[in-house]
Amino acid sequence: MAECECLPKCPFFNDRMASRPATAQLMKNQYCLGDSGPCARHQVKVAAGSDAVPGDLFPSQTDRVQAILAGLKKG
Ligand code: SF4
Repeated sequence: MAECECLPKCPFFNDRMASRPATAQLMKNQYCLGDSGPCARHQVKVAAGSDAVPGDLFPSQTDRVQAILAGLKKG
């Protein structure tokens, strides 16, 4: 387990998203500083690049990943 390589530029980790859930710090510990594999933002970035990661996607929202990637293929 290691820090996510996206951490320096990640809007979620750096509190630059429009909203910040109460569980943000827990998510940072779990994903950003723990295991980034299950992070929804990380999954989209790995599959389609940083530009494809929606600004409002939180690490725990893995249920959105498939739809986001499918939408990219259509576009
Ligand atoms: S939110 Fe996800 S992509 Fe961003 S630093 Fe944390 S683990 Fe990495």
